[in-house]
Amino acid sequence: MIYRTDYHIHSKFSDGKSEPVDYVAPAVAAGFKEIGFSEHLTLFRGSLDWSMNASQAKPYLAHIKALSMNVKDIKIRTGLEVDFFPGKEKEIHSFLRSINLDYAIGSVHYVGDLTVDNGRDFYKGKDIDKLFGLYFEHVTAAAASGLFDIIAHCDLIRIYGFKPSSDPEPFYRKLAKSFKNHDVAFEINTNGRNRPIGDFYPDRRFLRIFKEEDVPVCVNSDAHMPSRLGQYFDEAYELLKSVGYSEMAVFENRERYMIPF
Ligand SMILES: [Zn+2]
Ligand SMILES: [Zn+2]
Repeated sequence: MIYRTDYHIHSKFSDGKSEPVDYVAPAVAAGFKEIGFSEHLTLFRGSLDWSMNASQAKPYLAHIKALSMNVKDIKIRTGLEVDFFPGKEKEIHSFLRSINLDYAIGSVHYVGDLTVDNGRDFYKGKDIDKLFGLYFEHVTAAAASGLFDIIAHCDLIRIYGFKPSSDPEPFYRKLAKSFKNHDVAFEINTNGRNRPIGDFYPDRRFLRIFKEEDVPVCVNSDAHMPSRLGQYFDEAYELLKSVGYSEMAVFENRERYMIPF
């Protein structure tokens, strides 16, 4: 039986629709062994309606810790999805050092002042080739920063279906090497299926590249409501098996362990 985990979940503490406790019964019913909350946390941007800032982290973590103590049927992990900004590694590092997590997910949502997943308008009038190059550069830097245990949706820039004019495989090769060299996991993010792109992140054509580099992997839903917990996971596990994966990464106290599946 697969040791099911889902480490990428949002509740009302950031932009999710439900309270953390609302996820527990559905997760147990779906046979999960562990779930983890990974609320958005964005430094350097003041207060945002979709993401916590540094001052909101401690009450959130205390809430999840208390929930985990009260729940016996499943392990509840404490995580964060932290926005990565190139050049701000030191500041992010000192923030992460001040809190206790089971894992830190690093995300690139921002390219410049705006996020790449907040509407097609962002792409209007922009050079898509340059944008892809820049996005992958940021994600590669996030992996190389050593700040994170998992990198989220590593090709989120695909969200609206824009494509670079040449084969993007070199982007993925460079990315996978960076993940490997800096010992960071990637995720299959099944929520891409619910977004305009209509498929998982990363692009399934390039999953074999992550396997060639033996990059550790997690399957995550990026759920913003309990009904999406573990959505499409069986398909994701099959996809991973088809390129040769036989184990998945689990986390506790910022240590990674590998579990066969
Ligand atoms: Zn994200
Ligand atoms: Zn997320």
